[in-house]
Amino acid sequence: MISVIRVRFDTNNDANSVWSDELVRNWMQPLIPYSLGDFWWSSSWAIFSVEHTLYDPIVMTDPRLSAPPGNAAQRGALVQGAIDAATKLIAPDWDNTDIVLLWFAQPTDMFGGGTGTLPLRGGVTKQVNVTVVDIASPFDATCQELGHSFGLQHELDVNGTDYASPYSVMSARNGSVEFLRPADSRLPDGAAIKDPSDPFFNRPPQRVIGPALPAAQLYGNRGSGTARRSSMSPRTTRTTPPSSGSMPSTTE
Ligand SMILES: [Zn+2]
Repeated sequence: MISVIRVRFDTNNDANSVWSDELVRNWMQPLIPYSLGDFWWSSSWAIFSVEHTLYDPIVMTDPRLSAPPGNAAQRGALVQGAIDAATKLIAPDWDNTDIVLLWFAQPTDMFGGGTGTLPLRGGVTKQVNVTVVDIASPFDATCQELGHSFGLQHELDVNGTDYASPYSVMSARNGSVEFLRPADSRLPDGAAIKDPSDPFFNRPPQRVIGPALPAAQLYGNRGSGTARRSSMSPRTTRTTPPSSGSMPSTTE
């Protein structure tokens, strides 16, 4: 189960910046063309579950403000801070959560390879993959970040350089095959792209569509057994205080 959590920082006074329940449900819903749910349902040939629960949005202080500097520490604080705030404010069903999808209502960050610690019933915890995207994230990049949480990696060339396949979402935004989909009132647009060097400058980022997932990725992925992590077998550990030296690594 993917738990979808919308987060608005208390410095963002525009409550309307939070995508509505209907918009997010449509975004996660298979069978709506160019929705996130449809992308992964069709792109994974239905191997990856896009079953999800949408929770009420939360408002919180940006946890990075009180965290140490450095990419790993800042991202670790963002993820765990949002999970801890959600636990307190809306008590998501973490026991049945396999992936946390954090969506931020202001430009915040974008990554998909990190993990977070969820407190479960009975005083145990489990680690799950966490996808972080925000209101300014392009659609194809959003697909890639959720792909990381399904256990997928970037494609490599023979020298080990990543983002190497123009034919795959896991190398998306390499400038080869993206296109702008037509407007669809059922789906979010996002906040206009601000980078003047972006080919889609000033366009709605959620309309930037990239390539699907090549079948070769599914072969490797099924072998690794990480993609279909089931809620039937959560990896649980006894609750221990987080050690300050072990921030989760993240992949963009
Ligand atoms: Zn990536």
